[in-house]
Amino acid sequence: MKDRLSLKAAISAALLASLAGCSTTTETTEVVPGWQPDTTYNVTILHTNDNHGRFWHSRHGEYGMAARKTLIDNLRTEAEAQGSSVLLLSGGDINTGVPESDLLDAEPDFKGMTMIGYDAMALGNHEFDNSLDVLEKQMQWADFPMLSANIYDKATGKRKYQAYEIFEKNGLRIAVIGLTTEDTSKIGNPEFIGELDFRDPKAEAKKLIAELEATEKPDIIIATTHMGHYEDGKRGINAPGDVALARYLDSGSLDMIVGGHSQEPVCMEGPNMYNKSFKPGDECKPDSQNGTWIVQAHEWGKYVGKADFEFRNGELNLVSYDLIPVNLKKKIKVNGEKKRVFIQSEIPKDKEIYDFLKPYQDKGQDKLSVKIAETNGKLEGDRNVVRFQQTNLGRMIAAAHKERAKADFSVMNSGGVRDSIEAGDVTYKDVLTVQPFANMLTYTDMSGAEVLDYLNVVATKPVDSGAYAQFYGIAMTVSPEGVSDVVINGEPLDPNKVYRFTVPSYNAAGGDGYPKIVGHPGNVNTGFVDAEVLKDFLEKNSPIDVNKYEPNDEIVYK
Ligand SMILES: [Zn+2]
Repeated sequence: MKDRLSLKAAISAALLASLAGCSTTTETTEVVPGWQPDTTYNVTILHTNDNHGRFWHSRHGEYGMAARKTLIDNLRTEAEAQGSSVLLLSGGDINTGVPESDLLDAEPDFKGMTMIGYDAMALGNHEFDNSLDVLEKQMQWADFPMLSANIYDKATGKRKYQAYEIFEKNGLRIAVIGLTTEDTSKIGNPEFIGELDFRDPKAEAKKLIAELEATEKPDIIIATTHMGHYEDGKRGINAPGDVALARYLDSGSLDMIVGGHSQEPVCMEGPNMYNKSFKPGDECKPDSQNGTWIVQAHEWGKYVGKADFEFRNGELNLVSYDLIPVNLKKKIKVNGEKKRVFIQSEIPKDKEIYDFLKPYQDKGQDKLSVKIAETNGKLEGDRNVVRFQQTNLGRMIAAAHKERAKADFSVMNSGGVRDSIEAGDVTYKDVLTVQPFANMLTYTDMSGAEVLDYLNVVATKPVDSGAYAQFYGIAMTVSPEGVSDVVINGEPLDPNKVYRFTVPSYNAAGGDGYPKIVGHPGNVNTGFVDAEVLKDFLEKNSPIDVNKYEPNDEIVYK
């Protein structure tokens, strides 16, 4: 395929030549750009990603859509006053992560985004946590397109969702295409996504860009993606992300990637090297790969990213980039006491959207007290029991994790079990009392040999500590020297076989003195919050028979 920039340069040269009165070829006359030669056009791209139910501010008053709207309104006014065209994009994953939002199918989040004025978003993997009719409903709530070019309907062989949108801005044609990680099919609920085919987004992007060049003839092409950004493309067992996408395409054929999924502020130190010391308010240099700028604004609306471009004679150049914190705070010591203070001056909440969202927040909280399940006995999570022995609740939480991640076995730190659930009716509030930390479910693929090393550390953690582990889907003998007789799926552990197990994100990061497995090539953070996974498990298995989860000497301590 011909390079798009050089094609545009050729067109502008032809135009210049014809303006100068020279005779010129007529090959390109059917392509009439809306822009004028030797004229500079300013384009501002604002972006967020991975909202994950955070329509409301945190309990410390950080982020939230009301402050986000004030900030975006101000940025928009400022940019437009300078003649800039503005697009506001999201890298997807609006759903899942906060009970008040989850219980309302993220209605406040999608309606809030509409009020803020989003122009388009990528469909993220968590948009498929619910059944497809919920997504259809969300598309009605959103008055902006939810894009994905690489999701196909298996039955028809056609694209299931809108692949791209064209925006006309000051004579410029800007194409925004959407792409979704292939990993959606791995972790998604087959009941909901069985009819969908998540194809290679890199190949789809290449195909779609070629189509657009032939038909829509955009001046600028931006991909809003939910694929993840991995430093230097090192992705472990994750599906290829934004770096792989940019490297795969013809150089310069994609101007920008507005990403999501890996939930990082993409701020670089140098080529292929993260700025590991980046703090909110610092300067942020976006990634650049093969002629494509790549940006991502961490998560939850903590930041709004702002990229200012200049378009001139068919060329697009980044002039400045900023990752602007939305009421983020830091802890400081005042007279020996720790206090949270705003890192930058406080952004006031927009009153209109605040008043609009408040009833949803209240309604969500009311719903937390509604019965979700019942149990025929006590689910044991008392601190003086769960930190000393395997219990039905510890094992049930691990069972819920095992099922959600389609894992072979599960490890659950007892310090992450904060209370019991009494016999009788169970509410979401009860679940949040047991699991208040919003840890994420992670899973890891490891060889049996590595699994044995891992178990030798985590299974031998002492009792009377939060590190003491609850297990499900595995049997073994534990002595102070280590573990033996490990049985998984009814078979002795095979050192050469690959096993999948889950552990909460806190422990995956090394919490409780567990081996740090974040960064292990087999480690994946699913983004599912522990309380939601437990709630869903309780709902599906209600009425709960506690006997099913009683320990039965699976773990023998010597
Ligand atoms: Zn995601």
